[in-house]
Amino acid sequence: MRARIHGGAVEIGGSCVELEHDSERLVVDLGLPLDARLDHETWLPAIAGLATGDDPSLLGILISHGHPDHYGRVPSASEKVPRYIGEDAHRILKEAAFFAPTGVDLKPAGFLHDRRPFEIGPFKVTPYLSDHSAFDAYGVLIEAGGRRLYYSGDLRGHGRKAAVFERLLRDPPAADVLLLEGTRIAELTSSARGLETEKEVEDAAFQLFRQTNGVALALYSAQNIDRLVSLYKAAKRADRLFVLDLYGATIAAATNRPTIPQASWAGVGVFVPLSQRIRVKREGAFDRIAPIRSARLYPEQLAEIADRVVLTFRASMSAELARAKCLAGASALWSMWPGYLERPSGVELRSWLDRHDIPLTIAHASGHATVADLKRLVAAMSPARVVPIHTAAPELFLDRFSDACVEVHSDGEWWSV
Ligand SMILES: [Zn+2]
Ligand SMILES: [Zn+2]
Repeated sequence: MRARIHGGAVEIGGSCVELEHDSERLVVDLGLPLDARLDHETWLPAIAGLATGDDPSLLGILISHGHPDHYGRVPSASEKVPRYIGEDAHRILKEAAFFAPTGVDLKPAGFLHDRRPFEIGPFKVTPYLSDHSAFDAYGVLIEAGGRRLYYSGDLRGHGRKAAVFERLLRDPPAADVLLLEGTRIAELTSSARGLETEKEVEDAAFQLFRQTNGVALALYSAQNIDRLVSLYKAAKRADRLFVLDLYGATIAAATNRPTIPQASWAGVGVFVPLSQRIRVKREGAFDRIAPIRSARLYPEQLAEIADRVVLTFRASMSAELARAKCLAGASALWSMWPGYLERPSGVELRSWLDRHDIPLTIAHASGHATVADLKRLVAAMSPARVVPIHTAAPELFLDRFSDACVEVHSDGEWWSV
């Protein structure tokens, strides 16, 4: 079996790997570079048959998880090339399509299930569920011709599914090559990044919610289910109703998990902001409202119950909330990557918060493993070779894993597994 990286060799994002054995090929991830525009970037890597679907040696695309830097270019590939992704990850992306440009129906040919092997031509594929900020994320073991490659996908050991990471350490697949993500490889100490774990995010959010006199506004990614759980738990501890928007409630339902906060729960409400009301009306999608009707809160109710609420907030809701006069004594929690706050939309948001005297607190933990956890994974798996991917500094792997055999490969270069 041989492999070549098409994206991710020297960048965080755009992940794409092509595997070949016996003249048959498999693609693992087909992501967008992080700085690409989701709606404009349609170019594909130089993989025969990807655009046309007329090369029978191209057997399929495995998608490790539902982040755009891993699936974002799949819609540009021919639908004739079969796609494989986690079943819940697929449902979430499909449901998200109604609300956000990051949503899409990938029309999968099959699904990844935790530790359930299946075959695609000469390739035996075994997915391993990962702890990551995307729900239903996998690493994959791919075996062919007696060789074994483990692709880590994106992973961490400090989220709400940390037990899944510990299980991987206890019972790792045997692999000749570990293709390992190194998003945070340049960090020497973990404390440089502020909060480290999902539990710490929950505790920081709880402190803020408890100290806030008015409404607590929470900004987070609707598809980050770990974060949803952390913020829900913080709201519950602070004796506040956790209020989703229709997008969030829809994604929570799409997880298909009774353990994830749902609109039907006593501690959960749903506010449908104007932009979503307009969309529902325009599309005639009133069936989307029916499941949340009993949990629904209206703008005119917000001022009265503000001090008992954590409200899922997006910048598009700002004018509507100002009109609802519910912002006295409010606070805002930023629970996403802080770098977004420096972009034009983040600058605009901060200036709106300033104008309304709403202090902004940041509480975020990375979706990616610390160097210490990556070292634990390499030690547990003890592959013959480690190849860096999803990293801006592949050469640092040589320093961080000096006991292992690190092999750095460029984009576009074939190498033997
Ligand atoms: Zn990811
Ligand atoms: Zn990624």
